[in-house]
Amino acid sequence: MGEFELIRHYFAAASCAQAGEGVALGIGDDCALLDLPAGEQLAVSTDTLVEAVHFPASADPFLLAQRALGVSLSDLAAMGATPIGFTLALTLPRAEPDWLQAFAHGLDRMAQQCGARLIGGDTTRGPLSLTVTVFGRVPAGQALTRRGAQAGDLLCVGGCLGDGAGALSLVLGQRQAPAQVAEALLARYWSPQPQLALGQALRGKATAALDISDGLLADCGHIAAASGVALLVEQARLPLSQALLALLGEEGARQCALSGGDDYVLAFTLPPAQLHGLQAAGWPLQVIGRVEAGEGVQLLDEQGGRITPSAQGYQHFGGNGV
Ligand code: ADP
Ligand code: MG
Repeated sequence: MGEFELIRHYFAAASCAQAGEGVALGIGDDCALLDLPAGEQLAVSTDTLVEAVHFPASADPFLLAQRALGVSLSDLAAMGATPIGFTLALTLPRAEPDWLQAFAHGLDRMAQQCGARLIGGDTTRGPLSLTVTVFGRVPAGQALTRRGAQAGDLLCVGGCLGDGAGALSLVLGQRQAPAQVAEALLARYWSPQPQLALGQALRGKATAALDISDGLLADCGHIAAASGVALLVEQARLPLSQALLALLGEEGARQCALSGGDDYVLAFTLPPAQLHGLQAAGWPLQVIGRVEAGEGVQLLDEQGGRITPSAQGYQHFGGNGV
């Protein structure tokens, strides 16, 4: 199968590549053309996944496509943007019809869930790697950035932490778990759900935001540095899922939550006056700490005492310094 036939059959023909809002011209020309409503800005982000570095060689193509797209769309969620489309640069060792079909279905599934269209890409031969670039729109000046956290703000997250990191040991076959536990954690790993609606709801309310990809402590460090403040994380308030607790116990679950990465849950800072309205509207947010004057990230125990993260063994998961 030639390159053009492959593109036509598996990608141009995919449901997610069909015409849709905001896409004036999709796959097939030298560029795609996007329509941006007046008064909106284009939000763009790109992520690459490389076989054996970011996913095992045996990864299921349906799940791999879902994960690659979900991880990229999570960056749009973190900015409060609404997805328009995405491009896919795919490097493949060979053109295997079953693999390509399952991969295209995985893309379709996540694209449909999030309202994003496949608008173009590139197809080359070589060791398996995927680069997804996402395009979204956001009202001018309203994107949620990492700057802007203020002393006195609350530090919040959009859901349970650590599940993706906990699942990694199952993905790599290093650990076994009862079916129910494994299923819940693997779903969080292979099918991250970008918190797009939450991100959009936080526009004009949160003072800073990002999606947690490298672990809570490391990512909070990015907000602290960009905003010029200190972030205090209360260890006892970390939201941990039943599945993660069942797999690793409290100490292990907490380490995954603090330093594991792969959460794709939003972390954001919020003036206290905004909390009640968002909670009343049913948004799944959890307060896990606060912002103070200063710099860096501090972990607090139940009495408010400061814990040194390294003493908690957090480097066990790869030395994400903060
Ligand atoms: P060019 O050589 O002009 O860059 P290509 O031959 O690379 O064009 O691609 C032809 C068309 O197919 C373009 O519109 C491109 O965006 C699209 N395309 C190529 N590979 C993919 C892919 N993996 N997924 C989606 N669209 C693709
Ligand atoms: Mg090309």
